Amino acid sequence: MNPLTFTTTRGKAKRVVDVPLPDADGMPLVDTHAHLDLLDNPALALARAAVAGLSHVMTIADVAEDAARTYNDLADWQASAQLLLDEHAPLHASRPTPRVPEVGIIVGIHPHNARHFNADTEAAIRAFAHDPRTRGMGELGLDFHYDHSPRACQREVFARSIALATELNLPITIHLREAHDEGLDILREVGVPPAGAILHCFNREYQVAEPFMALGCHVSFAGPVTFKRADEVRDSAARVPADRLLVETDCPFMAPEPFRGHPCEPAYTLWNAATVAAARREPLAHVARATTTAALKLFGYAEAATVA
Ligand SMILES: [Zn+2]
Ligand SMILES: [Zn+2]
Repeated sequence: MNPLTFTTTRGKAKRVVDVPLPDADGMPLVDTHAHLDLLDNPALALARAAVAGLSHVMTIADVAEDAARTYNDLADWQASAQLLLDEHAPLHASRPTPRVPEVGIIVGIHPHNARHFNADTEAAIRAFAHDPRTRGMGELGLDFHYDHSPRACQREVFARSIALATELNLPITIHLREAHDEGLDILREVGVPPAGAILHCFNREYQVAEPFMALGCHVSFAGPVTFKRADEVRDSAARVPADRLLVETDCPFMAPEPFRGHPCEPAYTLWNAATVAAARREPLAHVARATTTAALKLFGYAEAATVA
C-alpha cells in the first residue's frame, strides 16, 4: 500500500476506507503546533504533510525533555521525507511532486515540566533561540487539570518565560487547561510579547477567547473543532476574526474526525481547516489563505508577502 495515502477505519470490524483530501484549491496550510519528536516516524509524517498541502510545520521542542534531538535530527527527517515523496508521489501523477514542508521550531518548557525550570533550562532556551530555525517560544502556560508541577511554580515559570520571549523577540504558544482566568491575569501583568502570542488548541466557547484577542493573541484550532459534540468550539471558530485565526494539530494528540482514535499527524491540519471553513461558511481556500498568511507573519517567514 502507498504510505502516502489517507485511510481510516470504520465500524466494529475496523474496515479500512480511503479518506479523500478536502480541496484547498492549491492554497498551502501551516500546522502551527506539532510535536514531531513524539511521532513514530517524523519523516513519513512530513512527507504525508506535503501531500496534504502543508508548506510549514511548527514543532515544539521542550528543554526539560530532549529539545536537542529535534535540532539534531530535523534535517534527516526532511531528507528522508523527500525520498519518500520522490518514490511514492506518482500517486498524484497529475500534480508536481509536493515539497517537504519547512519546519520551524518553538522552544520552551511545558507547564507540566515547570518544576524542572532552572538556570540551565533557561540557558538552553537562550542558546536554541540563536538557531535560525527557532521561530517561537512554547509551549508555555498553566495546566491545572493534571497539576504535574505545583501551581505556584507553573505561574512563576509562565511569567518568566513570557518575559524571556519578549527579550528574545519571539512569539509565544500558550497552553491553558482549566486555567484560562489565571493565564489571562499573568498575560495582563507581564504583557503579551510584541512578537505575538497564540492560544493553542482552543476548545472553549467564544467568550473565553475574547479577552485574549483583546490583548493581541491569535486563536488556534486543532482536532477538537471536528469532534461531534463540540458545537461551541465550531461557534468559536466561526467568530474569530480571520486575521487572528490559526490551525494546528497538536499531533500526536487530538486526531480529528474522521481519524479519531488513531495517532494524529501534521497532515490532519487540512481536515481541521476544512471544519473551520465549514463552520464559517467559507471556502476552505479562504481559510487556508487567511491562516497561512497570519502564521507566516507571526513566525517571521519572508513568504508572508507572497500568500495573497
Ligand atoms: Zn498544549
Ligand atoms: Zn502541544
